[in-house]
Amino acid sequence: MPQNTNTATNFTTEWKLETYLYTGFDDPQLKSDLEEVQRLTADIEKRFKGILSKGEVKTLVEYFELDGRLSYLTDKIYIYHYLLKSKYNKDTKIQKHYAEVEAKFTDIQNQLAFTSQEFKAIGYERLLELAKDQSLEPHANYLVQTAHNIQYLLSEEAEKVANIKDFAGFSVVNTLRSKFTSAFKFEITIDGKTETKTEEEVRSLRMDPREKVRKAAFESLYKVYNDPQVQTVLGSLYKSVIRNSTGMIKLRGLKGVMSSRNISEEQEDEVVDLLLKVVKDNYSLIHRYLKLKARAVGKDKLNYYDRFAPITQNKKEIPYDYAANLFLETIAGFDQEFADYSRDLLTGGRIDVYPREGKIGGAYANYSKGVPSTVFLNYTGTMNDVTTLAHELGHATHGYFSQDQEHTVYDTGFSLAETASVFNETLFSESFIQTLDNPKDKVAFLEEQISAIFSTIFRQIMYTLFEKQVHQSIFEGKDLDAREFTEIWTKCEAELYGGNLVYPDNYVSPVWAMIPHFFRPFYCYSYAFGNILSFSLYQKYKQQGQAFVDDYKDILRSGGSLPPKDLLAKYDIDITKPEFFEGGLKVLEGMLDQFEESIQEIT
Ligand SMILES: [Zn+2]
Repeated sequence: MPQNTNTATNFTTEWKLETYLYTGFDDPQLKSDLEEVQRLTADIEKRFKGILSKGEVKTLVEYFELDGRLSYLTDKIYIYHYLLKSKYNKDTKIQKHYAEVEAKFTDIQNQLAFTSQEFKAIGYERLLELAKDQSLEPHANYLVQTAHNIQYLLSEEAEKVANIKDFAGFSVVNTLRSKFTSAFKFEITIDGKTETKTEEEVRSLRMDPREKVRKAAFESLYKVYNDPQVQTVLGSLYKSVIRNSTGMIKLRGLKGVMSSRNISEEQEDEVVDLLLKVVKDNYSLIHRYLKLKARAVGKDKLNYYDRFAPITQNKKEIPYDYAANLFLETIAGFDQEFADYSRDLLTGGRIDVYPREGKIGGAYANYSKGVPSTVFLNYTGTMNDVTTLAHELGHATHGYFSQDQEHTVYDTGFSLAETASVFNETLFSESFIQTLDNPKDKVAFLEEQISAIFSTIFRQIMYTLFEKQVHQSIFEGKDLDAREFTEIWTKCEAELYGGNLVYPDNYVSPVWAMIPHFFRPFYCYSYAFGNILSFSLYQKYKQQGQAFVDDYKDILRSGGSLPPKDLLAKYDIDITKPEFFEGGLKVLEGMLDQFEESIQEIT
């Protein structure tokens, strides 16, 4: 147990939403908030339609004020419904309330859609001038980004057509994909006994301690996804997504296939290309990991189905109070403000800890301008759950520090969103591993950590390289079918693993077809960027100690008030240089060293 007994132990394990959101759907406050939302929407439309475009400072200040109040109320209401829905996912009354709120807010969005065109009419030069005005300074980055992006905005009519086409085409394709694949049945034969399973179930069997089960699970997945008919359908759907994306990119006059995503991430194309290059140049790290893992499980070379093989059979269970206390102790060693806020979360009914019937799976943190952060877990006491706790507390804390920012620049892109979460996780993992005295547990914990990092950094980059290749081909007018997607994928994957896995003869990988993220083009690289950034910051902390903590808090306080490149440059971090990405990967290398040492202890 942790030595320090001064830390809090009166942890709450369920949300007390009534203390910071609403007491229920019949809360008079909820009713009056909903009324105010309607009033504000009408007010904004009445006061600013045809007026905002004049680009006057005073008008914009007033607009941002009303818009800020509206966005606070809609977020608060939406979050309340969302939290309840994830906790009571089978409650039809809650589902209905949620759907109604969603529909209401979509209407509001449409009613206020005119504002984009008004900003376009203000024009590039004037928007940049406004960004420099003192009274609009808190919204500066919003104005600058808008100035850069209005050139890609089509006419109001064309944007409406695009919306209708999205609704009628793109979103149907998305739904169709998920309906089509969720109906799949996976047959798996173990010891002569054949069973039918869902995709979720087969996927988790890939981590089974028995080799034959892992092999059967992979074979079952591949059999379904390699089926010619399945390939034809998923290939056609995917092609339609790519055509939609590349077509809109041409129509909007954007530079390259990734531009649309890079703009929403506020990342320069060159920086993203550099990220892709440096990670690819360091594929040798994953090769080293695969060799070490083979040793840890007593093999010369891993089979392709051994990638998720567990290192140890014994399941160590970590009580929640123990994990929470140890986390508080660790974070207090880092910074008192972090510790105080984490304690607030842990003791103030802001975390929903345990799984229950009807609760959705996974974990998340919710934060928004003006709304207290909340955390959602499904804690069962695994080592992975322990680091997830630290991760989500990191998100929530980032949300708390960014409260200094206005609503227009409160949120960061995905590239910065993982900063505090991964930092927390890395910090906590280091102290958690000290508490493991069984060397096998140590190896297993490190392996879990490293394997997750490889998925986040290396696999996501490989995904992006695949996407880039297929989008580029179609952008240039080539026609690709499922067979060609599979060919390209198999080649990208072979590069990633570099001959460190044993495959069956004539192996082809249909895995591209299993990845729903590809229906949101180029979404994957931001995870890799975020992880590398966190590691770089962690390196700095190790080098500079306490001197770094204030800079780090400033970065979190900045929210989305600057693009990543400019924000980090203020703290001598140059993301346009390969050294930045290479430095981040050094943390991973250190973990691999530690992994190698620990394996020596058990073999
Ligand atoms: Zn996260």
